[in-house]
Amino acid sequence: MRTICGFLVLMAICFAQTRSVTDAEVQKIHKSVLLIDTHNDITSRTVTGYDIGKAENDGHTNLKAMREGGLGAQFFAVYVAANYTNGNRSAWRALEMIDTVKHDIIARYPNDFVFATTADDIERIHKQGKIAALMGIEGGHAIEDSLRLLRDYYELGIRYMTLTHANTNNWADSSGDMDKAGVKHHDGLTDFGKQVVREMNRLGMMVDISHVADKTFWDALAVSSAPPFASHSSCRAISNVPRNMTDDMIVALAKKGGVVQVNFACEFLSQKTADASKELLPKMAAARGENNRALMEEYRKTVPPASLADVVAHIDRIVKIAGINAVGIGSDFDGIQCVPQGLEDVSKFPNLTRALLEKGYSADDIRKIYGGNLLRVMRAVEAVARRQ
Ligand SMILES: [Zn+2]
Repeated sequence: MRTICGFLVLMAICFAQTRSVTDAEVQKIHKSVLLIDTHNDITSRTVTGYDIGKAENDGHTNLKAMREGGLGAQFFAVYVAANYTNGNRSAWRALEMIDTVKHDIIARYPNDFVFATTADDIERIHKQGKIAALMGIEGGHAIEDSLRLLRDYYELGIRYMTLTHANTNNWADSSGDMDKAGVKHHDGLTDFGKQVVREMNRLGMMVDISHVADKTFWDALAVSSAPPFASHSSCRAISNVPRNMTDDMIVALAKKGGVVQVNFACEFLSQKTADASKELLPKMAAARGENNRALMEEYRKTVPPASLADVVAHIDRIVKIAGINAVGIGSDFDGIQCVPQGLEDVSKFPNLTRALLEKGYSADDIRKIYGGNLLRVMRAVEAVARRQ
């Protein structure tokens, strides 16, 4: 009897948290929002010849799926892996990645993608029924310690830069190697690192604190005269991994007008996934690009995936501690090993809309989460640049 009562109480709680939502309502609201995803790594495939227009593939992103998912704007990652620092090839790689966005994505499919660099561009292109395509550099080592290269990247259209990837560079500590012996750390940002942030402010390039070490985050927050943001990070209170943000960090970022764009990587969403994949993930990261089938198979068999409900739980937490203006979407599709059940690829965003509506979020809330908050940050960054 106690079990049944317990079950009934649980059911009552579940129903109290949800409302039923029709397909028509999901579609109507999903079509009415401007969905901006601030991190997609399909560029690591297009740069080696992959056709984003090809509908059937084993990844998370293609043009047809982007249309089905209702993408309004996509920041494509200009990802520069740490190994390009060997022989100073980081800038070469960044230029190749910029070219793949412009040549293999935008120029190849001009009826679908339009190059964008401002918040106004995004809204104008969205009204035309096309997808605004933007670029963010992932890995501050891409500037090869030169503010001149930073300015060149801005001229080429880069509108955010993740200060580090998983590697500490010459001017900023990364969350990815704080425990690694032999890495020279700086206790956050060096003086030059602070200059980089100030130059990004002056130019109008968003300061992205995803991937950075905690001290780097606090330094960037203190130095930046515009609101920084996290292009693809989640909550450490739910999944305790260094890549996620603590509640204190989220609240402080929100106070400065910034936004946390929730990452869909299962490990960042679910502690269970993080624990189960702890040993496998570094091996897979080392083998990135090699398509190591044995490792992939082991991962599939032993690691439980996260779910759509986990994504909603991260959004809920950010809203609870920092407010509805502090949260957005940075999927990291095609840059992650494991995607949540129900959000397997870019076509599945309407499932998230349904889940948020069921949880009691209004259409206006969803508009903020999906793009309104990010547009606000972009405009604030643009305004700071105009003042300088
Ligand atoms: Zn990343």
